[in-house]
Amino acid sequence: MDPKQFLLDFHDRMVPLLDVYEQSIYLYIIRMSRLIGQDDVVIGFKSARKQLAFGVGKANTPPSERICYDKVRSLESKGFVKVLGSEWKGMRISPLLPSEIPSLAPEDVIAQFVALEDMDFFENPENRMFIREREKNLCFYCQTQLNDSNYVIEHVVSRPEGNNSYSNLVAACRTCNNRKGDIDAKDFMRTLYREGVLSQEDLKDRMSHIELLLDGELKPNVANTYEAPVGQ
Ligand SMILES: [Zn+2]
Repeated sequence: MDPKQFLLDFHDRMVPLLDVYEQSIYLYIIRMSRLIGQDDVVIGFKSARKQLAFGVGKANTPPSERICYDKVRSLESKGFVKVLGSEWKGMRISPLLPSEIPSLAPEDVIAQFVALEDMDFFENPENRMFIREREKNLCFYCQTQLNDSNYVIEHVVSRPEGNNSYSNLVAACRTCNNRKGDIDAKDFMRTLYREGVLSQEDLKDRMSHIELLLDGELKPNVANTYEAPVGQ
């Protein structure tokens, strides 16, 4: 670890999220592990509490043993340490450095993450692949196996009304794409059923998938995205 960077990160990013007990315990854990090249450390707070700080609770006394264990659990719930187990000498604890805690990532790192809802899955060739993968390489409508020469990304609701979001795009075979045109997706699938392309079971399955799709439930598996909070 880089001690200078650690102290800067600790004060700038962690301290505002920790009470004074948590700060002193966290620093002690770091002192006994990462600062001396170990990933974790066993700490018995019956004695270690005397090396933390005094006056944080009752004036001029160290924190009680119980408070120490409570605060370790609270550090754990904040994602700053991992409790690996209890041993006869105490608690085995593995701390995380601020740089290892995702919720403390600098804002420019967070900015690289884009909202799934804002991604264009039509114009961007890489993003098109995510739609094909989501369909497990089968035509969304007729369930034909797709390959590089017969597949297209198709708008369920045609443009200009329909957009390029994952909830309006499917991977389809060229035949379905040509035939469907501006026809409503459900009507088109009923046609496929009448023609015997889809069984009754297939039709039921496809109908439920189109509902899920339009509701935004069929999310492609894209790394580096977050789900936009509801209402934004
Ligand atoms: Zn098809």
